[in-house]
Parts: sequence; structure tokens; C-alpha cells
Amino acid sequence: MSRKLLESDVNEINELLKKSKRIVICSHYNPDGDAVGSVLGLSAVLKQKGYQVEAILPNPIPRFYRFMFGAEGIKYYSQEQNECESSLCSADLIFLLDLNHLGRLGDKMSAFFESLEAPMIMIDHHQQPSDIAKVLYSDTTFTSTCEMVYHFVDQMGWMEFLSVRAMECVYAGMVTDTASFRFPVVTADTHRIVANMMDKGLKHAPIHQAIYDTQSESRLRLVAYALSSKLEVWQESGVAVVYLSQEELERFNHQSGDTEGLVNQALSIDGVHLAAFFKESEDEGKIKCSFRSQGNFDVNTFARTHWNGGGHYNAAGGHWVGTLREAVERFKVLTA
Ligand code: 5GP
Ligand code: MN
Repeated sequence: MSRKLLESDVNEINELLKKSKRIVICSHYNPDGDAVGSVLGLSAVLKQKGYQVEAILPNPIPRFYRFMFGAEGIKYYSQEQNECESSLCSADLIFLLDLNHLGRLGDKMSAFFESLEAPMIMIDHHQQPSDIAKVLYSDTTFTSTCEMVYHFVDQMGWMEFLSVRAMECVYAGMVTDTASFRFPVVTADTHRIVANMMDKGLKHAPIHQAIYDTQSESRLRLVAYALSSKLEVWQESGVAVVYLSQEELERFNHQSGDTEGLVNQALSIDGVHLAAFFKESEDEGKIKCSFRSQGNFDVNTFARTHWNGGGHYNAAGGHWVGTLREAVERFKVLTA
């Protein structure tokens, strides 16, 4: 683990780029702000450098991330599988951003990746990165993959190719992965990066507005319903859970991203140090789980051990097969 790219890595990346014309950049299933921002930010830089770049994500991004530069050009594996596969097959180089193992691409896309031969470069801030990339730039002390992309671009000597539109993508990922710069992982260096980008023309306010002030009425009502009717708090253990069924999601015309941040609301209750959000997924019997903690409860290990997932020390996710009620009960027993 190193905050800086090793000199040998810089050399290796330059060698790989010399042999490359077509580059594909990918990130994880259910892309969040950091996934979208890092993919589009790095895409913009590499396009400026003259490469033919394609952004491919496993499934569509939430509506409130579509303001990012290049978002309309993203290809989705869930929608255009053949086209995505032919792009991946003809790629000279593949970047994997904000993911630590291929499984994070989702079952179908990760199975397809097993057959690919193009060299890969992984840039990621999750724990326990797998050994699949030719070059691995991994460091859990960074707020976000977007912060790492900024450092990556800087260390490669490409700062002149980071346009203001690309900076907006980088900033969006930093804002969303830090819940607006509030987590302990934020450093003076994080703020210096933002200051540098603002010096170069980045405007922060429209980005916050695009992400946080453009929600649909039905989303606000879904969140209100979840918090008033589907929140359980166990004060004695300092634990809270919110959970939603498919029927409830459909009742509120649920769109991708609508439940983002709900688990943090549960964590914001005084005395609560661990919160979970369980959501019935469209695949029958599968529950998507999100965990957030404050202080020294390690949700990465918790998600790895009990919920087929992983993530960070204070923010992790996973999935579990069973009913929603069983997931809530299991969570209650495990955390009592
Ligand atoms: P979220 O709760 O927002 O879906 O995810 C929180 C964190 O956990 C993110 O950093 C995400 O990368 C990670 N995460 C979410 N779901 C999974 C999962 O199924 N497996 C693993 N390994 N990590 C996950
Ligand atoms: Mn991230």
C-alpha cells in the first residue's frame, strides 16, 4: 500500500500506454458517485491525451449523476452486452476503478472478464485488493478513488489534460464518498486537491446542487416513508435498521439511487453506532445490504463474514439470500 505510485509502476503504465490505442474503463455494479466520477474523470483525461476511450459500467447510473461530463456516452453491460463484450475484447488496456475484485462487476460481467487477455490497471481505495491487475494502485487511506485519480493524473504528469469538466467528475466522487467531506478519512491533502481544482476554475456549488437538490417528489416520499414506518432502533445496543420490500419500492416508483444515503440517516440517530439498510432486490429472495458504523465497529469484516460482501471499515455492503424479515432478524441477533 502506498499513497504514491512507485516509479516502476509509472514506467510500466507508460509502457502499457505506448502499446495502446483503445482503452476501456470500468467500475462496479450499482455505480455510486465515486465509481461514475472516477470513470468519467479518467476517461476525459485519456481522451484529451488522444486515446480511444470507452466507459463501460455493469448497470445504469442514478439520474442525479448524469450531469457529469461524458455520462451520456457510458455503455451498460446490462443493456448492451454484445457491444460491451466486443469493446472489451478489442481493448488494448483496461482500467478497473473503485473495485477490489472482479466479483464487484456483478455475476455476468465478472464471468466474462475471466476470459479477457488485455492488461489491467486497478486504482482503488478498498481493503484486500485481489491480484488481477498488471499494475495495482491501492490505498485505503484515500477518501475516494476520485482522489486517487487526481493523484494518478498528477504523478503521470498529465495535469494539463485535466479539464474543468473532468475536475467536476473527480470532485463529485470526492463529495459523495466522504458525505460532503465529513468522514475521518478526509485529510488536509483532500482539501488541498479541492483548493487546487477551484484555483483552476472548478465551481463546487452547482455540483452539490445537481447531486443533492434535484430529487424527485416520489424519492423524498419514499425516504420519508422508510424513516417513519420502516426504521427500527435498538437503543440498548446502539443499532438501527431500515428495510424496504420490492412492493414498497415499486409503490414509490423507485429509481436507481433513490435509497442512497438512507442508511446514513439511520446512523445519524444519537447513540447509534451501527446502522443497516436491507433492500429486497428484483432477483427473488436476494437482499441487498448496506452497513455504516461510527467508531470502532468494523463493518468490512462484518459484511465479509456474514453478508457475502465487504467494503471499508465504516461503510460496507453485501447481499444475502432469504426474506427481508429474516435478514432483519439475523442482523438483530448478530449485533445484540
Ligand atoms: P453501499 O452500502 O453504498 O452499497 O456500499 C458501501 C461500500 O461497500 C462501498 O464502498 C462498496 O464498494 C462496498 N460494497 C457494497 N456492496 C458490496 C458487495 O456486495 N461486496 C463488496 N465486496 N463490497 C460491497
Ligand atoms: Mn469509492
